[in-house]
Amino acid sequence: MLSTMQDGRLSIAQILRQGTGPHGRSAEVVTWTDERPRRRDYATVGHRAAQLAHALRDLGITGDQRVGTFMWNNAEHLEAYFAVPAMGAVLHTLNIRLFPEQITYIANHAEDRVVLVDATLLPLFRKLLPQLRTVRHVVVAGGDGAVLDAPAGVEVHDYEELIAGRPTEFDWPDVDERSAAAMCYTSGTTGNPKGVAYSHRSIWLHSMQVCMSDGMALSQADRALSVVPMFHAMSWGLPYAAFMVGASLLMPDRFLQPDPLTRLIAAERPTMAAAVPTIWQGVLQHLEAEPRDVSSLREVVIGGAACPPSLMRTFEESYGIPVLHAWGMTETSPLGSVARPPAGTTGDRLWEYRASQGRLPAGVEARLVGDDGSVLPRDGSSVGELEVRGPWIAAAYYGDDDPEKFDDGWLRTGDVGYLTPDGFLHLTDRAKDVIKSGGEWISSVELENHVLGHPAVAEAVVIGVPDEKWTERPLVAVVLRDGQRVDAEELRTYLAERVARWQLPEYWAFVPEAPKTSVGKYDKKRLRQQHAEGALD
Ligand code: ADP
Repeated sequence: MLSTMQDGRLSIAQILRQGTGPHGRSAEVVTWTDERPRRRDYATVGHRAAQLAHALRDLGITGDQRVGTFMWNNAEHLEAYFAVPAMGAVLHTLNIRLFPEQITYIANHAEDRVVLVDATLLPLFRKLLPQLRTVRHVVVAGGDGAVLDAPAGVEVHDYEELIAGRPTEFDWPDVDERSAAAMCYTSGTTGNPKGVAYSHRSIWLHSMQVCMSDGMALSQADRALSVVPMFHAMSWGLPYAAFMVGASLLMPDRFLQPDPLTRLIAAERPTMAAAVPTIWQGVLQHLEAEPRDVSSLREVVIGGAACPPSLMRTFEESYGIPVLHAWGMTETSPLGSVARPPAGTTGDRLWEYRASQGRLPAGVEARLVGDDGSVLPRDGSSVGELEVRGPWIAAAYYGDDDPEKFDDGWLRTGDVGYLTPDGFLHLTDRAKDVIKSGGEWISSVELENHVLGHPAVAEAVVIGVPDEKWTERPLVAVVLRDGQRVDAEELRTYLAERVARWQLPEYWAFVPEAPKTSVGKYDKKRLRQQHAEGALD
């Protein structure tokens, strides 16, 4: 029997209408600048998104053509987030921090027709443009007439001039909810980057998940600081979720260093903020040296890499701000699991739950698969590779077969861990980072967390390095806190009280800074290279 219910299509245009209508005057996007923040309420964002859509139609954008963005987190990027998918085209956020050859590969692979570029990024973009085969128009935002020499066949426009005087309403088409709305490429640690194409439907359902109280609990009462870039995994879904419920958005543009971030927090009073652990480590260190009022934060969301328990405790104990640990991937939209402990949990159990990767929501199914392909029990101890499936999980990559990554309708995450009977996911490592030592596995994340607990240590990154006898042994790269001194022997002694003897690393390197990826995670591939080149001896 079919249901008797209506079958309304889920679309980005609906989310836009909700943000610009009911919340149009109460919610705003604030773009941080070094002088004075730029404010725009959602009604105005909606009008400008309509103007941008008219302009893009005039530039020839039809059907599902791709419109790229090469931008920081700011109001214009937000306008593109809505204009492009709502008009039926596909938003393609380009990761500005990838290697130039990766960016050109990605833009050519997605066949971007138009690219919107922040004027402050023109020095980077200028070098890429001659290699972008399908781009016909470049739109420069915030440029005040900035000049860009374009190759033959490419026209350059100023964002404000292009949208000026155009109608502030657009007859958003009724699109198939399964059609692509936005694209994001993974950074591609091996081989070429792979494209994930999110649908209107997947973004809708994911946005609801972001807002659920056991998700990120985003509501109209929030001012959400999105430090996580809009060019990485859709800014963890915050822009769309914020429009869905009328939460304001605080956008740091290119001011991502601890000093401007803490000034932004003190001045604009976000209620929640989201970023990878390394950003928060920098923020906390800076706050120690230069205290600022961060008391507006009801919660800080940390994900993208395992959150060290010491980071969580400092937030809570020094600032009274709870940390919400979340796990996800570009392929999972990205919100997968969220670590909200069961009601009533206290003491050490509470911290155990909070340090886990959390529970998967109703929409996402998970299973653990062992080396021999068997599905493992959720008994809190059987360790295997995590596979997930659900309506906001990728089923394939765009125009690029990767059978390794998909297993009979499941996404293979490449993450290793266990599930508890009450549904909490504990990741021990990434499959490629686990250290294989004499037939046993050593979790690089566990060692990092312990070393980070030492008061002299600012950052710790652990990799496996080749070893004749044991196959691999752990190497710890340590960044010390300013003015602190400690040697490898002391750190080993500290660690000896916390891990089994056979796990104790023999190799230690004290480095001025740890290499980071395009999205601010520790770059273990680069660290392995540095070790192979002898740079860590
Ligand atoms: P990249 O491979 O470039 O880092 P993603 O941003 O999609 O691309 O990264 C997803 C991966 O990040 C996950 O597969 C996982 O290894 C890691 N990750 C994300 N969140 C967490 C977390 N809370 N704890 C541990 N690992 C995490």
